[in-house]
Amino acid sequence: MKVIVVGAGITGVAAAEWLRRDGHAVTLIDRVPPGDPAQASYGNAGMISSSGVLPVSMPGLIWKVPGMLLDRDSPLYLRWSYLPRIMPWLVRFLWNGRRDKVVEIAQGMAGVISDAPEQHEALARGTPAEKYLRRGPYVFLYPDRKTFQKDAFGFGLRRGHGVTWEEWDREKLADWDPALSPDFGFAAAINGGAYVTAPGPYVAALGAAFQREGGTFLQGEVAEITPTADGRATVTLVGGAVKEADRIVLAAGAWSGRLAKKLGHEARLEAERGYHLVLKNPSHMPPTPYSFVAAKIVASPMEGGLRVAGTVDLSGLDRPPLEAPIAGLRKRVHQLYPTLTWDGEETWMGQRPSTVDSLPLLGASPNAPAVHFAFGGQHLGLTIGARLGRMTADLIAGRKPNIDITPYRVDRFDRN
Ligand SMILES: Cc1cc2nc3c(=O)[nH]c(=O)nc-3n(C[C@H](O)[C@H](O)[C@H](O)COP(=O)(O)OP(=O)(O)OC[C@H]3O[C@@H](n4cnc5c(N)ncnc54)[C@H](O)[C@@H]3O)c2cc1C
Repeated sequence: MKVIVVGAGITGVAAAEWLRRDGHAVTLIDRVPPGDPAQASYGNAGMISSSGVLPVSMPGLIWKVPGMLLDRDSPLYLRWSYLPRIMPWLVRFLWNGRRDKVVEIAQGMAGVISDAPEQHEALARGTPAEKYLRRGPYVFLYPDRKTFQKDAFGFGLRRGHGVTWEEWDREKLADWDPALSPDFGFAAAINGGAYVTAPGPYVAALGAAFQREGGTFLQGEVAEITPTADGRATVTLVGGAVKEADRIVLAAGAWSGRLAKKLGHEARLEAERGYHLVLKNPSHMPPTPYSFVAAKIVASPMEGGLRVAGTVDLSGLDRPPLEAPIAGLRKRVHQLYPTLTWDGEETWMGQRPSTVDSLPLLGASPNAPAVHFAFGGQHLGLTIGARLGRMTADLIAGRKPNIDITPYRVDRFDRN
């Protein structure tokens, strides 16, 4: 078949490559090249976190949000003028943080996340992208065991989905990473983790391998996707060019909601904007990625330096970055490594594609059966991107997925 994939972030590149391996003639379209800094896939924390079954909206968050918005040290930011527009999304997102719903979301997330490291290895195998993949524990840092125990609900859910971890005391932590602040007295080191040492170059290498093996990349912006009367579909590019295909995959990350809407679907998607600060030539580097739980940031060892990434900025898809989140990240670095020095910085902001129930939209559109959705990776879109891409190829080939895909139904938010 002739297939067009819209969006060349990790999800689109993975879909394009698995479709190509199935023998289809695939064209990948994006306004920027794969691995470009304009993609969320470029600047993330690099975690391939098969333990990440929990949504960000957890029980109790709803009561903390007003205080967080007023606290200058909190990882949550908002452009106040955007509040009225984001309110319907925010209310639903927070409402989904009730216990029974979180249990249901974790079940849905487990379906696409449990074999994430293997999915990335299968995608990158035999390509230059392989060299960016590493295995290693994902270490959650706490001041003490008592604080860790406050997260018992979440860790219990993780355990229920097969996640295991080692519990480290201060002595073990000091042994593991002597420069780490003594304020961290306890850690849960999650087994079975993996990470990417340079997410942008990783996606770029996957995109280059796809093209080397016969896939086509076309730089352009898609204005519209339209079903045709004969069961196929077209994309119309800004500038007017129209391309027809047997199947079209919508993998445009946080921008997917607009194109989905034109097909009559409500994606309930927002850009949960996040930031990173890369410290070049740092005096210390974590041996594997850390979750600094209280600050809600991740610190990862990367090729370009020590990357601290996180924060949630609810300011809409199109606004320029804020300055405060970067200052917040810089402050946290010294809480992690009190004696850290470095000699250069890179700062970045990107848009996480987040639905109100933290689950992706995956599968064919009932309104346009030739169009498949593959987006909504939220905070874990790098992790699940490889799997979403592969499942898209499976669905297009008519291969039955080995998991229940109803939690990801693309029309689940539609009004009728
Ligand atoms: C600070 C931060 C830290 C993160 N850390 C992690 C982590 O450690 N682990 C993890 O798993 N996830 C993490 N994430 C989330 C992850 O980065 C994203 O969920 C993921 O990259 C989304 O991938 P994507 O392919 O769906 O979207 P993107 O990478 O954003 O790609 C979408 C592409 O679609 C293109 N596009 C959009 N509209 C159009 C159009 N109309 N025409 C043509 N092209 C279009 C865009 O140009 C873009 O290239 C993090 C995110 C942030 C912001």
